[in-house]
Amino acid sequence: MDSSQTSPATSTPEKYSTTSVMYARVEDVPPRPPFPTDDNPSGVTVSAISSEKTKILAQDNTLICMLFAKATDVPSRPPFPNATTIQETTVTTVAKTTLDDGDNRAHSSFTALSHTVRLSFHRPSLWPNGSRIRVRFGGGTPELWARVQAYSQWWSAYANITFEFVDSGPSEVRVTFNTNDGSWSLLGTQSLQRAQDQPTMNLNITALTPPDRVRSEILHEFGHVLGAIHEHQSPLAQIPWDRPAVYAHYNALGVTNDWVDTNILNSPFPDSEIDADADTRSIMVYTYPASFTTNGSSVDWTSDLSARDTQRIAAMYPRNQYAVSSFTTNQPTETPMEWQSITFGISPQQPAPPQFAAALSEIDMSNRDDNIRVRTEVTDVQTDRYTVGVGTWGNRVFYNGGVSLLRVPAGDPNFRMGTITDAGPNSYRISFSPPFPLGVLPNVFAAFSGIDSGDNWRGALDIHNANHAYVDIQVSTWGSSNLYNTNVQWIAYPSDLPGVEVGTFTGAGGATGTYQLQNTFYNTPAVFMGFQRFDISSNQNARLRIRATAANPNRIDWAIETWSDSVIYSVVGIFLAISSGG
Ligand SMILES: [Zn+2]
Repeated sequence: MDSSQTSPATSTPEKYSTTSVMYARVEDVPPRPPFPTDDNPSGVTVSAISSEKTKILAQDNTLICMLFAKATDVPSRPPFPNATTIQETTVTTVAKTTLDDGDNRAHSSFTALSHTVRLSFHRPSLWPNGSRIRVRFGGGTPELWARVQAYSQWWSAYANITFEFVDSGPSEVRVTFNTNDGSWSLLGTQSLQRAQDQPTMNLNITALTPPDRVRSEILHEFGHVLGAIHEHQSPLAQIPWDRPAVYAHYNALGVTNDWVDTNILNSPFPDSEIDADADTRSIMVYTYPASFTTNGSSVDWTSDLSARDTQRIAAMYPRNQYAVSSFTTNQPTETPMEWQSITFGISPQQPAPPQFAAALSEIDMSNRDDNIRVRTEVTDVQTDRYTVGVGTWGNRVFYNGGVSLLRVPAGDPNFRMGTITDAGPNSYRISFSPPFPLGVLPNVFAAFSGIDSGDNWRGALDIHNANHAYVDIQVSTWGSSNLYNTNVQWIAYPSDLPGVEVGTFTGAGGATGTYQLQNTFYNTPAVFMGFQRFDISSNQNARLRIRATAANPNRIDWAIETWSDSVIYSVVGIFLAISSGG
């Protein structure tokens, strides 16, 4: 919006006079789960904030939080209180007003600016979609805890993230209520770099803090927890700061220029880490008066998530984003079939027909006709349903088959996928459309979705030359085998994409094993699978079934199964473990 439309009223932030400082009202808090527990009795009291602090609040409502982008930037702090020291900590009074206490943060729109900004994220600090983030409190009161629980859910109502509040044990986020410190938070997964006895967030709130400011503080800091950066520090914000005026203001509060640079004036995150879209009113903006800018623009104060905040967080942590499913035919023994298909529903209905990847996971086929012919296909993909089939052709004797399926939303920015059809032994170059950003190295999954192989049944897929623009997939066979043609399902995604991992397992028929996931998963991932190499005896029926399931967030259990008299010399299975979301 044009700065000429700015209301001058916004240049004078609303002030909290001493008379307006009220005890936080329970009715401001949405319904909450029972809390506290026996370990955290509710009788804890917090002494009143000092008159000095109240005075500061009355003078300056430009509330500012500390954002530490790197866990290593956080100054050494007292150990995180355990259950036995919580009581002691909570009775600490607010005797003095520190610099951080005086730093005020508020947030609002950039309606005063000619440039609009949007909820922006530090991509490397995003949690895997579907994460369950455990939160522990150190200090504070049951009433404050309840507010944190309630307001954090304002985010998780839109994000596919679950905040779980725990009283003991490991946690990803640890919240203190130290009023000798400003409000601050680590950014996203940076919290994982902090020792378990160290806080990852401080909330400078007490029972005397005005309710809308409590809400503002909690929403803002939990925005950081989810990886959101300060909107005013986005490279796109382009705020015409009057730097001397800003320095002077904060110097008067005892804040160093370095701090002002880090939290207000500088854009510490390169453009490549910013996800751009338009917003006009984010919880992640600091308020500032017109005196801070050379063009007299200012930003008003808010204590709500903007409509765009909720849209953006939902886009960054979408629900039902990825789904893994399977289809296995169940013919009676010795009753061959040619083709079976089934139509599955998609719930909830998608805004556009999604993409599917399909790979063979099971074959039970006669060797009567020398070659094995099996293929799978996904057809009739609609917003609310799709059809998957598996079978053979050309009068071959086929008993049963199984398919693993991965569903990805239409236009998903992370995944490229497709099928090479009728591919004989050769090298195939796949150009990604669109290409990944320059410098992004993709991980590539490739597995058979169709096979027509003779003599001993042997086929292999090898991945070469993967870069941001293309990958080469080599289809090959060896020995006396003929590989007439194959269909190859391929998937590519950025190798640094959180919540996804590709891996392989190798063995002969009957082999089982475990695979330790290297990436951090916070929930048990879903597992899409196929095989990219097979060497199966043609002297017996071809009976092969691969399994790959996640036992927990850290481990894949896999198996290469055969039965009856079949012989599997070797198989390379490939899986894609993925946080599927809820
Ligand atoms: Zn902040």
